[in-house]
Amino acid sequence: MGDCAVVNSIEPLNLLDADNSSLESFFAVLGERKFRSSQVLQWIHKSGIVEFDRMTNLSKSLRELLKQKASITLPDVFEERQSSDGCIKWLFRLNDNNIIETVYIPEPSRGTLCISSQAGCQLNCTFCATAQQGFSRQLKTSEIIGQLWLATRQLEALAKNHRGITNIVLMGMGEPLLNLPHVLPAIRLMLDNNAYNLSRKRVTLSTAGVIPGIDRLREECLTSLAVSLHAPYDELRDKLVPLNKKYPIGDLLEACKRYSKSNNDSEITFEYTMLEEINDQPKHAKKLLEVLSAVPAKINLIPFNKVEGIPFRCSPVKSIDRFREILVKGGIISTTRKTRGDDINAACGQLAGFVKPRIPRRHSNSSWAN
Ligand code: SAH
Repeated sequence: MGDCAVVNSIEPLNLLDADNSSLESFFAVLGERKFRSSQVLQWIHKSGIVEFDRMTNLSKSLRELLKQKASITLPDVFEERQSSDGCIKWLFRLNDNNIIETVYIPEPSRGTLCISSQAGCQLNCTFCATAQQGFSRQLKTSEIIGQLWLATRQLEALAKNHRGITNIVLMGMGEPLLNLPHVLPAIRLMLDNNAYNLSRKRVTLSTAGVIPGIDRLREECLTSLAVSLHAPYDELRDKLVPLNKKYPIGDLLEACKRYSKSNNDSEITFEYTMLEEINDQPKHAKKLLEVLSAVPAKINLIPFNKVEGIPFRCSPVKSIDRFREILVKGGIISTTRKTRGDDINAACGQLAGFVKPRIPRRHSNSSWAN
C-alpha cells in the first residue's frame, strides 16, 4: 500500500534525462531491482529502442507500468544539411520551439560529434555567432544526450560508409560549465558502458574558463578539457571573452593545473581563434609561451570563421604559420584546426540555431563579466 502511494506520486520521467544512478533510484521507487537500469539504458542508447513494448527482457507488467510512469522523448529533427567536405549539421527543435545545432565531422581516423549545451549563450564573446543570439535557456540532459542519440540514428539511416561517432566535443552552442547539473549526467551516459561506452579521452568539454565549473568537473567527472583562451594578456582577453573580468588568466591557469594533475598530468588543449592584427602577432605568441610555461598544454589555433555582423577578420595563413612556428620552437605542441563545414555554417563559432532569447546580447554579459 505504502509503495503504491510512492509509485503513484512520481511524475512521469523522461528516461533520457536519467543517468544510471538516477535510473536505479527510479526503479527502486517502482519496487524493481537495480539491474533494470542497465537493461533500459542498453535498449535506449545501444539499440536505439524507444518503445517500451520492444524491450523484450522486461516483463509485460513492468512495460505497462513504464508506459504510465515514464516517457522517452527526443527533440525533433528540423533540418539536416550536408557539407561538401562530408560534415553534417542538424538543427534539432526542442519542445518550446528553440532550435539547437549539432555537427558531425568525419575524419580519416575518427568521427567527431560537436554537441550544444545551452540554447544560446550568456557569455558574449565578441567574435562568436552564438553570442549574437542571446541566451534562451539551459538544455536538459535529454536534450544534450538526445543530440547524440539522434545523430547516431541519422548516420545509420544515411547508410553511407560513415565510421560513426568515436569522439564527442561539447563545443557547440553554449557554455557547458554553466549547465553542469544537466551536462554531468549526459557525460556520464557518454562514458557508461551500458550506453555509449566512450573513454574519457574521447569526450572533450570546451569552456571559456568558468573556474568553479572546472573544479567541479575535476571532482565529479574527469573528461578531456579544452579552454578557449584567445589572448595571452588580461587586457585583451577582457575584450574578447568578457568572462575574463570575473576569472582572469592567472587564476584560470591555476585551475587548469589542478585539473591536469588530477587527470594523470594530461594536457589541456588551449583554443586560440586567430584574429587579424588583434591577437596574431609574434609578441602574442611569445607571451602565450610564457604564460603557459608551467601548464601541461597543447594549443589549437582556430582560423576565425566569418560571422555576419562581426567586424573581425581571419589572420592570413602566413601569420597563422608564423605564430605556430614560434609556439612549436618554444616547445608547445600546436596545431591549426582545419576549417570544416563552413559552406553550411557549421564551423566553430558559426552555430546559432534559432533561439528565443530571454536575455538579448546587449544585456547578457553583465552578471558574468562583472
Ligand atoms: N563556450 C565554450 C564552447 C563553445 S565555443 C567555449 O567557449 O569554449 C567553441 C570554440 O569556438 C571556442 O573556442 C570559441 O571561442 C570558438 N569560436 C567562437 N566563435 C568563433 C569564430 N567565429 N571563429 C572561430 N572560432 C570561434
